[in-house]
Amino acid sequence: MKTLKTTLHVYAFTTVTPEGKAEWKAFKAKLKAAGNGKAFEAWGSGKKYSEYAQGEVVLTTSTLFNNQWNVAGDSPTNPGARAFTWALDVYSGGRGFYKTGHYLVVTDEMKDLLHKRHVCGYCGHQVDSDADLTFCPSESCIGSQYLKADQLHLTRMKRVDDPNPTRDPLTKAEEGHLLPKYEAAQANTRETRRLAALARITADADREVGEAHTGRDILKWLLGSKEPMLIDLVLDGNVLYYAHKSEVGFGWKDPVEDKDALDLLLQTHNGGFLWKYRIK
Ligand SMILES: [Zn+2]
Repeated sequence: MKTLKTTLHVYAFTTVTPEGKAEWKAFKAKLKAAGNGKAFEAWGSGKKYSEYAQGEVVLTTSTLFNNQWNVAGDSPTNPGARAFTWALDVYSGGRGFYKTGHYLVVTDEMKDLLHKRHVCGYCGHQVDSDADLTFCPSESCIGSQYLKADQLHLTRMKRVDDPNPTRDPLTKAEEGHLLPKYEAAQANTRETRRLAALARITADADREVGEAHTGRDILKWLLGSKEPMLIDLVLDGNVLYYAHKSEVGFGWKDPVEDKDALDLLLQTHNGGFLWKYRIK
């Protein structure tokens, strides 16, 4: 997996005084100029995003976002965290005097990656390309059983750094190209699901038949024993086969009076009871 390095900074400003206000304003201008974008605001205790460790971070690049990065598990600081290009803690109930949070130094490498990376508006599939891509190349996307024909414009690819996430409607030409592809992919998906449903229905029925046969064999074994204690358990409906546990429960309705005698009988009669059991 490709990774890259940058630095995470933690900041804290107090804007009670005019000097503090000026410092905050200068800080915001600096981040804007550096390409940190808009602050990602976190509402809460005001400490969510300022309690990061300052220092070098290693970022993963498999999935990219325009305002946040995943920190690698082996990063020297903040391993496994979600680091924001610019995070600002907002004190709920506070008067906005305190400005804390963190930000990343946005490197050219980060900018290039975000610009090269294209994302599908429907499934989130990402592709790296220098050229503009039109539609999502993922077969599972256009074949998704949930994708409606009137949502096809959402499969339009956009660069991750595109500030406007809205996908334009399909042009007539695009529709003419995409609709047949959509219909073919949907037919494929339907066929795959049809075969899976057939297999599932057959497997379910086979399992149920197998369980019914086991239940029958158990009761036949007990009734065939000619042992009054075993026969009465069946006649009283006090034995149950739990197919999901492959276990027979004796005394599930009324506790068995002499458990030791039943246990001995089950172990010794006719070579022993063939199934796993439990006596209550
Ligand atoms: Zn897609």
